[in-house]
Amino acid sequence: MAQDGSRKVYVKSYGCQMNVYDAQRMADVLAPEGFSETTEMADADLVVLNTCHIREKAAEKVYSELGRVREMRRDREAAGGAMQVVVAGCVAQAEGGEILRRAKGVDLVVGPQSYHRLPALLDAARVRPVVDTDFPADSKFDALPQPRPERTRQRGVSAFVTVQEGCDKFCTFCVVPYTRGAEVSRPVTAILAEVERLVAAGVREVSLLGQNVNAYHGEGPDGAAWTLPRLMRRLAETPGLARIRYTTSHPGDMDDDLIALHGDLPAAMPYLHLPVQSGSDAILAAMNRRHGRDEYLRIIERVRAVRPDIALSSDFIVGFPGETDADFRDTMALIAEVGFAAAYSFKYSPRPGTPAADNVAQIPEDVKTARLHELQALLDRQLRAFNAATVGRTVDVLVEKPGKHPGQMVGKSPYLQAVAFEGRGAQAGDIVPVRIGGLGNFSLLGERADIEPDRESA
Ligand code: SAM
Ligand code: SF4
Repeated sequence: MAQDGSRKVYVKSYGCQMNVYDAQRMADVLAPEGFSETTEMADADLVVLNTCHIREKAAEKVYSELGRVREMRRDREAAGGAMQVVVAGCVAQAEGGEILRRAKGVDLVVGPQSYHRLPALLDAARVRPVVDTDFPADSKFDALPQPRPERTRQRGVSAFVTVQEGCDKFCTFCVVPYTRGAEVSRPVTAILAEVERLVAAGVREVSLLGQNVNAYHGEGPDGAAWTLPRLMRRLAETPGLARIRYTTSHPGDMDDDLIALHGDLPAAMPYLHLPVQSGSDAILAAMNRRHGRDEYLRIIERVRAVRPDIALSSDFIVGFPGETDADFRDTMALIAEVGFAAAYSFKYSPRPGTPAADNVAQIPEDVKTARLHELQALLDRQLRAFNAATVGRTVDVLVEKPGKHPGQMVGKSPYLQAVAFEGRGAQAGDIVPVRIGGLGNFSLLGERADIEPDRESA
């Protein structure tokens, strides 16, 4: 098969960061088959929709996108070209052959556990459409090729690394245990090797990903199951790796070691995404979250005791079946008590096959909408307050790329805020102290604090 990159693949990813990581891995599997990536669907010999099934809207978006893909395919075929169409990700896993029935012009439906088999599946799909939603015994991670250093460099100084997949928690609203399967942790040596390769290619920051990342229990080189904090401490020894993040954590798996690490491991960034979903004990129980409101608040207190400046982030669901106004007030009170720097919030979306979808006490759409608006208004105020509190401080910025204006560079603060500043020689991958002077629309604005202003024009 051609090695020259003359065939083009267009990958569109929906949903979580794990899908972004998977999309990169798919591109890496296809590169030795002669595929290079394109950002134009119309130019593509192969279109991959890497889908998300977490909420109904996310799945419906895929079907409408497939209509557009079909038109593009027709145009290409009319001009004498060809296009193969793949639906990957969690909608593929959940809907399987139903996709072939509902949307014409799809060649392959492939679940998240089979990406390493893409080339063979694409060959088979040339004869007739293929559905592969198995959970194979061989781990895709062992079989997925690593990208060449130039490709890693193009992707930037910050990289995702999936360390754990799947979930055994079975929250009553969530499809993840069904679409991603049981919880599996990658072995420590495989993660170390991947991170070392990334760092050798210029990566300075890794975000360790897992649906339940703090339940990580991968096999260590000593044969023992390593925890997430143990893995992070080992990764922090990698020369050149400056920053480590992890997401998403479950409150029930926030153990003492992980909390302690935020106080004593400089590479661990002061940012914690810890979804609580609701502030009501009754709703948390109905969600099968396995912790109460006070337990969550105690974790936050303990994390703040070791790292007072930590930025806290969370996920919220409003309008879960049976949620009363008093339950919703409990959620608002929890938000007011914690003070979040960032958050994702959603209206409850019934997912077929999950227990909560069959609950008779579904909440009317207009009530969900009103609650979501009120909750988001409070979270927006907190986000603005968090950013405003950074003004006047000097923060270390990991430089990512040039900004919109000449000479400007953009990067990230330890708290995951976007920062734009006058670069004055700063390169992608540098970490420079920046004095934050104000707030822009989408980022903080600052000046380098390591260069005296009087040397500015020298
Ligand atoms: N494992 C993480 C946890 O325990 O919180 C979350 C993973 S899930 C991919 C991301 C977020 O999507 C959840 O935290 C939840 O807020 C939201 N979500 C999941 N199912 C949902 C549903 N049926 N309706 C609305 N939001 C949902
Ligand atoms: Fe879904 Fe997270 Fe609950 Fe697992 S812990 S079922 S991924 S919400």
